[in-house]
Amino acid sequence: MKPKHFDVLIAGAGPAGTACALALKSSGLKIAIVDKAKFPRDKVCGDAIPTNALRVLKNIDSNLAEDFKTYFNEKNTIRGSRLISPSRNFFDLEFVNSGHAATRLNFDNFLFQLVKKNVPSVSLFENCELKNVSTNDICVTAETTTGTFTADVIVGCDGAHATTAKQLSGFKVDKRFYIGAVRSYYKNISDADDELLELHFLKDYMPGYFWIFPLGNNLYNVGFGMASDQVGIRKVNLRESFHKIIAQDKILNSRFKNAIKTDDTIGFGLPCGGRKLKISGKRFMLCGDAASLINPATGEGIGNAMISGRLAAFQIIKCFANKNFTASFIKNYEVELYGKLYKDLRIQHMLQKVAGNRPWLVNFALNQVSKHEFIRERVRKFF
Ligand SMILES: Cc1cc2nc3c(=O)[nH]c(=O)nc-3n(C[C@H](O)[C@H](O)[C@H](O)COP(=O)(O)OP(=O)(O)OC[C@H]3O[C@@H](n4cnc5c(N)ncnc54)[C@H](O)[C@@H]3O)c2cc1C
Repeated sequence: MKPKHFDVLIAGAGPAGTACALALKSSGLKIAIVDKAKFPRDKVCGDAIPTNALRVLKNIDSNLAEDFKTYFNEKNTIRGSRLISPSRNFFDLEFVNSGHAATRLNFDNFLFQLVKKNVPSVSLFENCELKNVSTNDICVTAETTTGTFTADVIVGCDGAHATTAKQLSGFKVDKRFYIGAVRSYYKNISDADDELLELHFLKDYMPGYFWIFPLGNNLYNVGFGMASDQVGIRKVNLRESFHKIIAQDKILNSRFKNAIKTDDTIGFGLPCGGRKLKISGKRFMLCGDAASLINPATGEGIGNAMISGRLAAFQIIKCFANKNFTASFIKNYEVELYGKLYKDLRIQHMLQKVAGNRPWLVNFALNQVSKHEFIRERVRKFF
């Protein structure tokens, strides 16, 4: 069968891929998005939607931001985080701008529908898994489960286990820059504040944290994640530890007494930022988890995924304007993206490594944060 040809091929329709497509909506370019799933689809996550997701949509088009506000009107508003120290003291860190929480089943489908509604030149291919991808001087060739695509440029937005990252830039997991996590949904958890994200730093499981994130209507996203190098060294079984924490931690145990688990406990990886990778090359760019852009201190990745998708779209427009798809020209994307995000990601990585497995330091730091507004101001940007 003859390959289908597009100007732009986007692999993956999560936050990175949809932000990229939305930022190309007025470009007139012929865009294909392939995704191995059929929407709505679940994505293992904490379901905390960061405030910069709204900012990215607003920067693309203020109407998209209005759609976002309408969508979240009926969803859960998050006013801050409750940080619980290893010595089990807590304090509430209010956000400057309130955030939101929504299941990724719903939120990602909202973004997917935004693309359908707003990008006239897009073709969406669901149940279409990218298997092999290569680039040369003439085009990109992508073999999928439903046929071959060719394109002038490809944007790899295919998540934590990205085929694009492995095949186009030789990505390999480095456990120092990776977090392993499990997640489940619960109802009937007692003593939860429905506007606060709860992060419990537990002395036996650091660097990492146990979380309870409220989704409204008595539903909670509950999970536990830890830095992968420590998971390996200490031979932690994340799923078993998750259930052990709920059963044995004296504070959490009583709060889960009447809780009902409504879903399986599912694990997934978080490729984190903090080192520079090759995230662009001849006729390709990587975005979101495919580019390892998750905040290593908090596990937040949706915002950076959308920021990178939008920047990739800008670069694509420049590539077509200059008819230039060379690695050296496309590297502008990498330079811009790291210019915007790298410094913070590096600090967040250091924070995870330095404070993460020293419970006394976390106790001390959270104590200081709770006492001093000027420290809180600085910490807010990390949570
Ligand atoms: C346990 C856990 C908790 C987290 N909690 C939070 C949180 O609370 N807040 C937050 O901001 N971030 C959180 N994150 C991180 C966040 O989930 C990711 O950073 C974010 O989803 C990245 O978006 P993305 O578009 O890059 O990738 P994804 O959202 O993973 O989207 C990738 C898309 O590509 C598709 N795909 C994959 N492979 C292929 C293929 N070969 N061919 C075609 N399509 C393919 C997938 O079906 C998917 O639709 C969490 C992650 C985990 C694992």
